[in-house]
Amino acid sequence: MNKNSQQIFVLDSTVFIRLDFPGLQTLRVRKFMTVNSVLQELKDFRSKMNSDVMLQTNKLKVSSPDPLIIETVKNKILELDPKTRLSKTDIEVLSLAKQEGGVLVTNDLALQNIAKQIRIPIYVISGKEITEIRKTYLKCKNCKTVIRGSHQHCPDCGGEVKEYFSKENLSK
Ligand SMILES: [Zn+2]
Repeated sequence: MNKNSQQIFVLDSTVFIRLDFPGLQTLRVRKFMTVNSVLQELKDFRSKMNSDVMLQTNKLKVSSPDPLIIETVKNKILELDPKTRLSKTDIEVLSLAKQEGGVLVTNDLALQNIAKQIRIPIYVISGKEITEIRKTYLKCKNCKTVIRGSHQHCPDCGGEVKEYFSKENLSK
């Protein structure tokens, strides 16, 4: 993350509960943004209060990413992880960060993992920041071919497809 220029921070639902707003403002943030579905997901009192304060003081802009960007991001995620468990909201948050060239603020490890792979900078408020990327890939149990994209069966031999993981360390 480039600390010398002002950034757009895109907030996901995991960060509102312990949102240290004065602390965040020292980070040269140009704008805080989120998507409507994130606000809908906030259930606990603290998260709702923090988001309400930010909305009422015009510190948080709610926006919807371009559907074409959502589609591109979604396809990219499915390519990287065909059995992704990321929600529609997660995909929207990633898409907004991509669209705005912003920093994704999240404590969610699965979201960090994908953000790193699609080159979205992340900022972790509390909780831990991932130190390695977990990559998912599919491989045919029969002919051992590594398969790209989402497939139920091997495109080469029609064999059964299995999900594997590899890890890649992130150097700081
Ligand atoms: Zn095969």
